[in-house]
Amino acid sequence: MQNEIITRTHLTCPVCGAREELEIPADMCLFFHTCATCSARFRPEAGDCCVFCSYGDASCIPQQREQLAAQSEENGA
Ligand SMILES: [Zn+2]
Repeated sequence: MQNEIITRTHLTCPVCGAREELEIPADMCLFFHTCATCSARFRPEAGDCCVFCSYGDASCIPQQREQLAAQSEENGA
């Protein structure tokens, strides 16, 4: 199980399927991303806060922090 914050991940373009390695911004959600391959500008899916949550291998930093916090609460209980 993941136990540390991932800061680099791959985004998969929903239009052309190209994968791109990106740094996850630490303190903001990336709401738009333009594909380097097909130039499509895409947005998160409904209910997701950023493109990493929708199309990335890892969620955005705030989501990862929440997941880690939830895990450590479980372990401590
Ligand atoms: Zn693309």
